[in-house]
Amino acid sequence: MVKVIAIANQKGGVGKTTTSVNLSACLSSLEKKVLLVDIDPQGNATSGFGIDKSKIKKSMYDILVNDVPVENVIMRTDIENLKIIPATIQLAGAEIELVSVMSRETKLKRMIDKIKYDYDYVIIDCPPSLGLLTINSLTAASSVLVPIQCEFYALEGLSQLMNTVALVQKNLNPILELEGVVLTMFDSRTNLSIQVVDEVKNHFSHKVYRTMIPRNVRLSEAPSHGQPIILYDPKSKGSEMYLELAKEVIGDE
Ligand code: ADP
Ligand code: MG
Repeated sequence: MVKVIAIANQKGGVGKTTTSVNLSACLSSLEKKVLLVDIDPQGNATSGFGIDKSKIKKSMYDILVNDVPVENVIMRTDIENLKIIPATIQLAGAEIELVSVMSRETKLKRMIDKIKYDYDYVIIDCPPSLGLLTINSLTAASSVLVPIQCEFYALEGLSQLMNTVALVQKNLNPILELEGVVLTMFDSRTNLSIQVVDEVKNHFSHKVYRTMIPRNVRLSEAPSHGQPIILYDPKSKGSEMYLELAKEVIGDE
């Protein structure tokens, strides 16, 4: 059964893209067929795979606004079993262009449903907002995975996210569930990190992954080399932990 997982949190900089890119790559390395869907106009997941945005002919924008079939937009990556739907800054206009479109919240779902059975996992990298692009992602998804950065105010805004998830469940996508919560940029040397972990576990209890992603400089360097961490530095702590996370996600099946 294919799982469509939206990686969402309306806060920027919490590790959505890092998690999308590296979880996708690690799932592929565990022999799963994966489609990574970039639906953030910043296109960071796209460049994270070394794709030159100026050379992209068709992107997520064309799927949503011009009804271009998904198969005409999917691109290969350097990793076997891993394909990507790229996004470019053009997508920034889509929220407005879609306003007058019928069933605009279900556009992505209708497009993804046609091809999702070719994959074991479809991972959607959401933008840092709760706007129409994130609503489309939550509507297309079977579950939502929330990265939470171990920092002060970590839980701030999460009730808003959970309210949005509940609204989508009620009105658009009754099967949507919470896949899990992953703590990112964890630093075992700081009390703050440890405190945040406790708080998040109190709040989400068994939904928090055992695997926590440490703050790791190699993870932040990898995108500028256009590579996921398992290619850029497979021996790094970041690589090891994203592989662990992928195993935990698979174990949840
Ligand atoms: P989001 O997609 O939620 O905005 P990103 O994944 O782009 O967040 O991460 C924000 C910044 O933090 C990026 O520069 C990224 O390279 C860096 N980063 C993310 N996770 C880690 C980590 N575990 N260790 C170190 N740097 C990280
Ligand atoms: Mg991002």
